[in-house]
Amino acid sequence: TCVSTDKINIGRVLIVGATGFIGHFVAEASLQTGRPTYVLVRPGYTNNPSKASAVKALQDKGAISVHGLINDKESMEKILKEHEIDIVISAVGGANILDQLILLEAIKKVGTVKRFLPSEFGHDVDRAEPVEPGLTMYKEKQKVRRMVEESGVPYTYICCNSIASWPYFDNTHPSEVLPPLDQFQIYGDGTVKAYFVAGTDIGRLTMKTVDDVRTINKNVHFRPLCNLYNINELASLWEQKIGRTLPRVTITEDDLLAAAAENCIPESIVASFTHDIFIKGCQINFSVDGPNDVELGSLYPEETFRTLDECFNDFLVKLQTEDKPAANEVPTKTHVVEPIPIAATCA
Ligand code: NDP
Repeated sequence: TCVSTDKINIGRVLIVGATGFIGHFVAEASLQTGRPTYVLVRPGYTNNPSKASAVKALQDKGAISVHGLINDKESMEKILKEHEIDIVISAVGGANILDQLILLEAIKKVGTVKRFLPSEFGHDVDRAEPVEPGLTMYKEKQKVRRMVEESGVPYTYICCNSIASWPYFDNTHPSEVLPPLDQFQIYGDGTVKAYFVAGTDIGRLTMKTVDDVRTINKNVHFRPLCNLYNINELASLWEQKIGRTLPRVTITEDDLLAAAAENCIPESIVASFTHDIFIKGCQINFSVDGPNDVELGSLYPEETFRTLDECFNDFLVKLQTEDKPAANEVPTKTHVVEPIPIAATCA
């Protein structure tokens, strides 16, 4: 019998932003699929110990690191050509969305990239309309979308909704922080629902889409019904885990709008998204039936999502293993990892 060596052609993936919050989930997932995985790292990353160890951990799992900046067209062309990259996944942060326009020019010039996933990983930016300053970020993501569509490069937009965690209105990376241990801040009446997706599932399911013909030029919506919760339900779930109830204080619509209007970046951006999600219902106020929409569950009915219950169990384990106050004491600090300092700028 002959064994075909012409196995499924597994595309070579370049991940931009693998040292970031969302990008590291995608990079880990790409490596788990056994794909040749290249990670673009910014020169000088070794000066930052946490970034250096993040890159080393990915390299140990087989990632090939290449040095560069997406806003340097010539070097991106060289990288794409030299490593025969088939799929580019970008997870650059909110401050660097427009840098992707240069990356797109390089992708166009090289002409061999079969799929581009620009940095989305949130809401459908053509539908949601948060207040400022979130709106400016959405306008930038929309601009990237329009340029991608014009370029003719096949694309996929990942609309994965909220990362599974307590949705703090002032934290860009909420899954790095334990849910509250002193009091819950409930947005509005706490009844507006949202979809929560574990970071590992964002990575794993993103990787399923990258060479699926059904996701070419589509918005892929993550809507796991098992993880559709409002914030009152989220609070009750955490109370069950820690075995006690916590006081609830209301953060009104006006409070969220005021936090957004302060224009502190990035906190005010998160406040504007929190308002859009938990007051206006931006994740649930439309159906995914447009010509460019596909829902992840209908594409991969065999795939299961980690439940929010499981994710909260993880938080409980972290809480118990940390040298922190017991669950029935009021803590002084709730971070589970050292927060990366972000220089806030307020207009
Ligand atoms: P981070 O700020 O955590 O990471 C950004 C990454 O991009 C870093 O690895 C950074 O490198 C890299 N990067 C930035 N600029 C360049 C450049 N010019 N060239 C090469 N690399 C670059 O981003 P996030 O993970 O917070 O955000 C990624 C996406 O996910 C965004 O679109 C954001 O809106 C979305 N998001 C969604 C969330 C959700 O709940 N659904 C939550 C948070 C984000 P370096 O490490 O050197 O700085």
